Amino acid sequence: MTITDTAGLGLQVLEQRVAEDLAKVSYPAGRWVTPHHTPDGGRVLDVLIVGGGQGGTALAHALTRQRVVNFRVVDQSQAGLEGPWNTYARMATLRSPKAVTGPDLDIPSLTIQAWFEAQHSASAWESLNKIDKVDWVAYLLWLRRVLGLTIENGKRLERIEPADPYLVATVRDLASDTVERITARKIVLATGIESSGRWWTPPMVEALDKRFWAHTCEDIDFTALTGKRVAVLGAGASAFDNAATALEAGAASVAICVRRPDLQRVQPFRWLSFPGFLGHFHSLDDAWRWRFMNYLLSLREAFPRETWQRVARHATFELRTGAGWDACAPMGDAVRISTPGGEMEADYLIVGTGFDMDLGLRPELDGVSQYVASWADRYAPPPGEENQRLGRYPYLGQHYELLERDPGSAPWLRHIRLFTFGATMSFGPSGASINAMKFAVPHLAAGIVRDLFHEDIEDHWQNLTAFQLPEFLFDGEEGEAAPAIPVIDRG
Ligand SMILES: Cc1cc2nc3c(=O)[nH]c(=O)nc-3n(C[C@H](O)[C@H](O)[C@H](O)COP(=O)(O)OP(=O)(O)OC[C@H]3O[C@@H](n4cnc5c(N)ncnc54)[C@H](O)[C@@H]3O)c2cc1C
Repeated sequence: MTITDTAGLGLQVLEQRVAEDLAKVSYPAGRWVTPHHTPDGGRVLDVLIVGGGQGGTALAHALTRQRVVNFRVVDQSQAGLEGPWNTYARMATLRSPKAVTGPDLDIPSLTIQAWFEAQHSASAWESLNKIDKVDWVAYLLWLRRVLGLTIENGKRLERIEPADPYLVATVRDLASDTVERITARKIVLATGIESSGRWWTPPMVEALDKRFWAHTCEDIDFTALTGKRVAVLGAGASAFDNAATALEAGAASVAICVRRPDLQRVQPFRWLSFPGFLGHFHSLDDAWRWRFMNYLLSLREAFPRETWQRVARHATFELRTGAGWDACAPMGDAVRISTPGGEMEADYLIVGTGFDMDLGLRPELDGVSQYVASWADRYAPPPGEENQRLGRYPYLGQHYELLERDPGSAPWLRHIRLFTFGATMSFGPSGASINAMKFAVPHLAAGIVRDLFHEDIEDHWQNLTAFQLPEFLFDGEEGEAAPAIPVIDRG
């Protein structure tokens, strides 16, 4: 039976296939990481993963495959509400092509295609344009179940402190309002696209009464926009998705205002989706990494045709290019907006103006962020390539670890890995990206495995030299011989 034989047969059949596939690639199967304990005898966690979205889920899968199983995953959201998908992601389908893979870690029965085909058919997949956002969430929840991964929902990381040679994370259970201090060898922040800074709103909009405006990342009551004139600032996909949602909710008119003279329709991220770039960008020297990212991050990411069609089919939609907002002032129940092309009025403003990179804005990184090296600390671009925005990105080590600004000031930083959009300057698309997961997650896991091994090398040496299990016993000899299938289990 080939994998497509599970098409149309339902998830139960697919799940049997998954179990078979996982068993076939389970070598070597035993736990190998040396157990560590706190002075009071408690077991130290090998890895604490913060964030149970797609990145945290995929990493949990990757660590399990590497037989690193002493980890926990916490997420402040309720189950099913991890990430943006069921809250402020206001599009019907993913923007990525349906061929994208990642959290499956190259096991065909774990791909979204296999999941979709099992419930529908191979031809339904063939004719599918893009993956429904709702399906993406259902697929992630299915992965969690079939892989036996536990995400502890309703738990928020509030602080990280060093406790040499470990880290202590303060995690609040939001339901009981109790706090747990978790000692871990490694902490991975897979906390989402904006979590290395904050969503950014132009100050002139922020100064307005909140009844006049929202950021695209917020909970917006679109029914209240029926019959209203809406102005949206931004040229990215989220700006367009919010405009479309307002149009579909019956807004009288929606104008998208874009600072640039033309809409960005070329998707540079389409160009860079190849193994060389996605897998090895991080190993380029700083000059090349800066040059590429300065170019890529200075462009707006283009959005797919469906996003454009969703707004363009409304006669009440208007695109204004060369129309960045210079000033906004309340005028009774409306806002007057000044743009280089003239004045306009709107009843409600939505800004899709991206986010600002600044680890110092994250309360959970208070006590951490002040020690972290940024790109501005480590690299001075040549004339013509200066970019202050890029300089604020953290300068990460070769496996996503935070590095110190001043050597010796906080050596424990290397135990914290940043797998968010903040990794983008150092790694290219990596954290908080579906397209990059296939390459980024195994690399992240490999770095953790490397460190867990290296840090315990003396213990491994002692274990090797104490390892006296013969391959076979002589006739009549008493004792134990090595099993046919080698299994190490170090608890
Ligand atoms: C609207 C939108 C559409 C996107 N569409 C695409 C797309 O089509 N293709 C693509 O490649 N990328 C897309 N992205 C980018 C990226 O894939 C998503 O942002 C994705 O959700 C990132 O996954 P993640 O696991 O890194 O973070 P998330 O899915 O955001 O998960 C992070 C989790 O961390 C939790 N968390 C945060 N802080 C804490 C804390 N202190 N303690 C405990 N838990 C915490 C959050 O509750 C959240 O559940 C999109 C992003 C957005 C915002």
